[in-house]
Amino acid sequence: MDLANKYLGAREVTGVLITHSHADHFAGILGVVTVADVDSGKVPVLAPEHFVDEALNENVLAGNVMNRRATYMYGNLLKPSPTGIVTTGLGAALSMGTTGFIVPTVNICNSGEVHTIDGVEIEFQMTPGTEAPAEFVFYLPKFKALCMSEITSHHLHNVYTLRGAQVRDALAWSQQINESIELFGARLEIQFACHHWPIWGRVEALEYLSKQRDLYKFIHDQTLRLANKGFTKEEIAERVQLPEALGGEFYNRGYYGSLHHNTRAVYVKYLGYFDGNPSTLYALPQSESASAYVEYMGGVDAIMVRIKKDFLAGKYRWVAEVLNHVVMHNVELVEPRALLADTLEQLGYQSESAPWRNFFLCGALELRHGLPESSKYAASEGIAQGMPLKNLFQLMAVRLMPSKCEQLSLHINLQMTDSSSQWLLSIENSVLNAYENKQSATPTATLKSDTLSIKRMFFGLTSAVTLVQEDKLSVDGDLQALAVLGELFDAFPRRFPIVTPRVGDEAAMK
Ligand SMILES: [Zn+2]
Repeated sequence: MDLANKYLGAREVTGVLITHSHADHFAGILGVVTVADVDSGKVPVLAPEHFVDEALNENVLAGNVMNRRATYMYGNLLKPSPTGIVTTGLGAALSMGTTGFIVPTVNICNSGEVHTIDGVEIEFQMTPGTEAPAEFVFYLPKFKALCMSEITSHHLHNVYTLRGAQVRDALAWSQQINESIELFGARLEIQFACHHWPIWGRVEALEYLSKQRDLYKFIHDQTLRLANKGFTKEEIAERVQLPEALGGEFYNRGYYGSLHHNTRAVYVKYLGYFDGNPSTLYALPQSESASAYVEYMGGVDAIMVRIKKDFLAGKYRWVAEVLNHVVMHNVELVEPRALLADTLEQLGYQSESAPWRNFFLCGALELRHGLPESSKYAASEGIAQGMPLKNLFQLMAVRLMPSKCEQLSLHINLQMTDSSSQWLLSIENSVLNAYENKQSATPTATLKSDTLSIKRMFFGLTSAVTLVQEDKLSVDGDLQALAVLGELFDAFPRRFPIVTPRVGDEAAMK
């Protein structure tokens, strides 16, 4: 905001468009508007339908593992240097600020919907299930300007993102770009997007849009052509090459997504993770097979003699595969661990995709220096305040530890003091269910509090005892039974090992 106000002239924010459900497009909202201005209706917040569920499910429900993998993808711990982080692929670097969330006040549901905000007419096209599960693009007739959100960018995007997310639909993606061409192509004079630079001129913009459309269509079609001939996803990834007309354009290069992992993603989207070969159907987890591989290969010393030759010959992909078994077999062996780090670095330097590079270099970093200081995963205060209770309870359900509640039958009536909202929270069969507008006739306990306090309590940002002392919580019923509540929920370590074996596996399983 400071940058925009400084260079474009200071002006008030009179509306916010959230184009899609990714954190880099919504989590900074508290930096541009206040909750009070949104609540009072002064500033409308427009977002695509299903935004709230998709934003919170993708970023919170699997949030800890996704965050951990994202540190690899975006190279947060790497230092900027020719042998460290160069870019994130999508941009120069990640924002390291705090996150926030506001429930939108206007849901955009239909293509062709027109809204006028502060005198500016905005025409929307829905593009769900493409780059993000909930997304729209929009056209500004007054300026003949098309904003493609993140549907197009100046590189090949991710059909599957390596931080981990559901696989995206490359065919729908391509079709949505085509629909944008049909809806706005005859009118636009400029095309811009949430990341990267605009394209001026209708002819130039249309050529760009059609080649981005065909990029995703080509990857989709050719993956399935080869899949239908019986090739596995790894074999397909080795074979698919872009034709010159597409691959020759800088904006179609794999700086962010790569052709190699996007083809595999299309395969998984249609056929799932199983390759159809029954020998892989019931495979051992690596923690169990690694030692057997090492033994069958003649032991660590024999492996090291041969693998050094392969390393010098530049067979880095193979060296990484073999040494991964050795490190998973015994992480204390310094020489294989160091050689694997050297190998991953070489793979990183050879990568066109920044996420690939960052993944390889972060793996090397973990092998050389171990894990950074860890703390328990916790949602930020900003997310806690904005998250609807429904999503909060779903997150609690994901944290429930079955070993702690095998015999447990708990029914808690929640009554909000700041709204008419009521919830029944029940734990039975080692499953937590939350029912809106429902109350138990024979509850274990009834809790009365305001919504924010309930949220903060369940997020661990405050405790029931503190809330009672502050007069923000009253409890009727079996206090003893409630005391157990604090023991039932798992905590997630923010920095778990990725290229080295986990320790304390037994505890983690419970
Ligand atoms: Zn983005």
